[in-house]
Amino acid sequence: MDVANDIQARYEQLERRVLESNPHADTGRLRAAFEYANAHHGSQLRKSGEPYITHPIAVAEIVAELDLDMDSIISALLHDCIEDTDSTHDDIAKRFGATVANLVEGVTKLTRMQYTSKEDEQMENLRKMFMAMAKDVRVILIKLCDRLHNMRTLQYQSERKQKEKSLETMEIYAPIAHRLGMQRLKWELEDLSLQYLDPIGYKEVQQELDALTTENSEFLARMQKQIEERLAQEGIQCTVYGRLKHIYSIYRKMYAQSKTIKEIFDIYAFRVIVADVSACYNVLGCIHDMFKPVLGRFKDYISTPKPNGYQSLHTTVIGNDGIPFEVQIRTWEMHQTAEYGVAAHWKYKQGMANSKLGTEKEFEWVRKLLESQQDTDPDEFVRTLKVDMFADEVFVFTPNGDVKSLPAGATPIDFAYSIHSAVGNSMTGARVNGRIVTYDTPLKNGDIVEIITSKSAKGPSRDWMNICKSNEARNKIRQWFKKERREENIATGRAAFESELKHMGLTMAAITATPELLDTLLKRVRFNSLDELYAAIGYGGMSAQKAVARMKEEMTRQGRLERQNAERLAMQDSLAAGEAIFPAAAKPQQSGGSSNRPRHSESGIIVEGLDNCMVKFSKCCTPVPGDPVVGFITRGYGVSIHRADCPNATPEKQKAEAGRWVQVSWVESEQSSYRTSLEISAKDRDGLALDVAMALSTQKVKVNNLSARSQPDGYALVSLELSVKDRSELTGVINKLSQIPGVFLVKRAGG
Ligand code: MN
Repeated sequence: MDVANDIQARYEQLERRVLESNPHADTGRLRAAFEYANAHHGSQLRKSGEPYITHPIAVAEIVAELDLDMDSIISALLHDCIEDTDSTHDDIAKRFGATVANLVEGVTKLTRMQYTSKEDEQMENLRKMFMAMAKDVRVILIKLCDRLHNMRTLQYQSERKQKEKSLETMEIYAPIAHRLGMQRLKWELEDLSLQYLDPIGYKEVQQELDALTTENSEFLARMQKQIEERLAQEGIQCTVYGRLKHIYSIYRKMYAQSKTIKEIFDIYAFRVIVADVSACYNVLGCIHDMFKPVLGRFKDYISTPKPNGYQSLHTTVIGNDGIPFEVQIRTWEMHQTAEYGVAAHWKYKQGMANSKLGTEKEFEWVRKLLESQQDTDPDEFVRTLKVDMFADEVFVFTPNGDVKSLPAGATPIDFAYSIHSAVGNSMTGARVNGRIVTYDTPLKNGDIVEIITSKSAKGPSRDWMNICKSNEARNKIRQWFKKERREENIATGRAAFESELKHMGLTMAAITATPELLDTLLKRVRFNSLDELYAAIGYGGMSAQKAVARMKEEMTRQGRLERQNAERLAMQDSLAAGEAIFPAAAKPQQSGGSSNRPRHSESGIIVEGLDNCMVKFSKCCTPVPGDPVVGFITRGYGVSIHRADCPNATPEKQKAEAGRWVQVSWVESEQSSYRTSLEISAKDRDGLALDVAMALSTQKVKVNNLSARSQPDGYALVSLELSVKDRSELTGVINKLSQIPGVFLVKRAGG
């Protein structure tokens, strides 16, 4: 057969395949596309020596097998025209419509993408970029079919090319096929890649599988027959077939989980395909009746579909020969979805609308993709399936193939700072896809961006902060100005600060009145000097408005404190002058009629001559109402109350600081209890502490603390902390405690 005839024959085969699933297909358009592609590829050859056109025909046939629409099949025929011939987008648009032209251009863009293998995060970005660049899911599907055919014919390529393409397929194409739910395509891509990536491992698994199959073929045939007969008896219409799991999935289990092939349960799998969902569960019942199910291996993906839309019942059972095998039960519709994923959805769209998709991160795309299409007519489904879930991100390459994810609209400035602040700060220019561009050029998916730097670069300009889209770049630019332009920042910061001061009715003189005041104000805004503050305002680290507002707030607070201090000082001065007691009449009258009010105090203490001063009860002698008391004016903590017999309030001590001792007295108070301490000396014996506690509880005294310790000479000391209402209650407690056998002294602590 001559070459031209062979090509014709291959085309006829494609046309027959298309008519098979759609008898009304417009074959005139299809043939025109074939002839256009054939004419353009002309005498180009594949590495295999075959005419180049055999490749687009084969890709179109794979696309047709997925039952994609005519535009997709035509685009598959034309998919290498823009890249490899003198055909253009406009030319294709004129002849085959804008949709086809856009699809072909989309595939061309993906073809031009260059990948190098990277760590996981990079790969995920690459996959996202791939999806984002495609825009229309049909572009991805055609590209997957293109890759599948190239993988099927990879034997003609150099060894290096084989490894490269296989790695790329394993890391980009197979995962995307998986997420789009296209199992059949994914498996074939994985098995083909594995053949080149680990030929020895591949052969090993294949040989072991072959051996097992030969060994068990009779068993498998018997199981299949048994299942078929039983289901026929039950009157269930179904198709049953057995199969081996694809090699890569077994390979992964054997090598990644170091299992032997015999330990892998699901090497053999039977599929039972039935008409409807209720039949699925009937079949499951029969299978579990015939064979022993393996515990924990039943999975109901019908009620809970996998995140990529996969539905089936899975169970593993032990066959009569003790060999385990998996049974997958599903409807025809589920079967289509399982094999062809997204591609199946426009045939069986209704099924998807009813099922809930999972939320696992890696399927996020597909979920969003499908959810956004819920209301579309099934026929419209594929045409409107736009990939726009990465609308707020843009993915670009560094010159050495790393992928950077930047906010949509990002510019070369964002890119430069995402590499390193040093790159941004010494940038003098940028190239996108080899061409010099301006700094504000928005980057597009798949762009290769190169930053031109120079040691003598002057650094970023302030405009850059308005041009860039990422906070990262903005912050780094700000940092630079902070460090590199101190003098300039101080000058601009000072001007802004002074104008804001004026605006708020303050003056420089007011805030620098004393060094202490300035220091306090600076602390409030967390700076050590005015220059530091100016510098921060200059580079944008703090706004002048904020700084002045805080300082003003602090000045108001300082003013208030000062007034209070002045009052206290005035009081202490008059005390020091010998005026130990304020005459009642001399009390400052802060509000009308206050001197007529009965004397009253929350603490239960009246300090002679002072209303509402702070009072605290000293820890050394813990006075209670009824005790004779004196007061001592502390520095800054109000008046501290001591018992008159406290060692800290002896007449000598009172004389030494004559001005600060004041007369105080108890009033009938609302406060119900006062804390005080007692010390009990007794002969040491068992149960002493218990007796003390009992005595206190019969007196209904609140005990805050009780500790007993033995003394070296056979005595014991019990320390008590308790709350009482007043001195008379305390006296009652002391009397009661003194009656406890062995107790010879009860005294107040500190007295
Ligand atoms: Mn191709």
